[in-house]
Amino acid sequence: ARARAHADLNAFLPLDEAAETEAFHAAARASDARRAAGQALGPLDGVPLAHKDVFVTTDFPTTAASRMLVGAQGPYRSPFDATVVAQLKAAGAVSLGKLNCDEFAMGGANEHSAFGAAKNPWDATRIPGGSSGGSAVAVAARLLPAATGTDTGGSVRQPAALCGVTGLKPTYGRCSRHGMIAFASSLDQAGVLARSAADCALLIDAMAGFDPLDATSAEFAGAEPNRPGLIGAQLAARRAAATDPARPLAGLRIGLPREFFGEGLADTVRAAVQQGLEQLRALGATLVDVSLPRTELAIPVYYIIAPAEASSNLSRYDGVRYGHRAEGAKDLLELYRKSRSEGFGAEVKRRIMIGTYVLSHGYYDAYYLQAQKLRRMIADDFQAAFQACDLIAGPVTPTVARPLGAGSDPVAEYLADIFTLPASLAGLPGMSVPTGFGEGGLPVGLQLIGNVWQEATLLHAAEAFQ
Ligand code: GLN
Repeated sequence: ARARAHADLNAFLPLDEAAETEAFHAAARASDARRAAGQALGPLDGVPLAHKDVFVTTDFPTTAASRMLVGAQGPYRSPFDATVVAQLKAAGAVSLGKLNCDEFAMGGANEHSAFGAAKNPWDATRIPGGSSGGSAVAVAARLLPAATGTDTGGSVRQPAALCGVTGLKPTYGRCSRHGMIAFASSLDQAGVLARSAADCALLIDAMAGFDPLDATSAEFAGAEPNRPGLIGAQLAARRAAATDPARPLAGLRIGLPREFFGEGLADTVRAAVQQGLEQLRALGATLVDVSLPRTELAIPVYYIIAPAEASSNLSRYDGVRYGHRAEGAKDLLELYRKSRSEGFGAEVKRRIMIGTYVLSHGYYDAYYLQAQKLRRMIADDFQAAFQACDLIAGPVTPTVARPLGAGSDPVAEYLADIFTLPASLAGLPGMSVPTGFGEGGLPVGLQLIGNVWQEATLLHAAEAFQ
């Protein structure tokens, strides 16, 4: 009811309200019955949440916020649940529906959704960020305590920052990608948005784990088998080891990459992030200077690799197997052409064209191969920085949330991803934690980046900070 009352925020996609209501009541009844029967309850028993609409679900339709997945019989219905959806269900969580996002998760403002943008609850004339915009809005407006999201180049961390909630993108390979509609497979990771780091920990702990159905899912997270419950156990050990309650981060070295604090960072954002860093120091952390010298190159590298993979992943939408099919095509080629022209939005088409170009004969070496080499160097820069620190901190976004409708320049939009792309290219876990307010009283996020499999270190620092 609360979600319906805030329909103006456009956080939920109105795909099948009857199914939403029915699935919610059925799951809530099942949870009540388990409680009444004195059965063992899952760690999230009865907890309401909702999924970004790029996770396929059996209880609800799935569209990836694209017309391409809405056919003559209505929106696409998956015969199976995404693995992370199934794991959250198994932990007892109750799903309320599907959340708005940029089409196929391509964007940073939620304005590329076929269903219109979700609105920032702090100021409904502003973007919520993206691509997991609906997830951030639903949590920020208190429609839900937590939501899933996906992060390919910042799509959990950036909307979390702009809406003043906490977001976590885990290490690449930590969560299964099975049933997560593919954007750029070597970068895509499931993540969570919630009101606090402790809540993010509960969700990610249930979502994590090796899945034989995803070839890039990790069997091991460091020395331990990658399984649900591992992050929670590691976090509990960190909490227990912090014996001085006034200085829970004593001994933790936090690196500040000088490239994250250069020109282009809005003064009010810089001030809020500085304030957060002072707070981390007061909690016992040591702040050290580090360098990530190829930070600026993360933008061209990502905007070659992500569209290249997207152009390949999206070739499955041919108007034949599922989704939108154009009327009146006279041959197969025309069917493909018309279905794809009608089904995909402008940003998706732009990425398909860029991706096809950089992969084509004669350009592959100049663009794609070069980008792959630089990607490795960006990852190496992080490993060099982690010689001197345990976590890295900086801003999530260069500015606070901009007004809706002002994003007509795609290049300007891509440049705003500068602080989130490096960790994505390196496969590292990252968080956005609210750190006060900037211009216009709008929320600002502090980004924390860990080394691979260091989610518990990240979550522990983030919850001490909160
Ligand atoms: N804003 C970035 C893009 O448009 C990141 C999107 C994402 O992480 N899904 O590609």
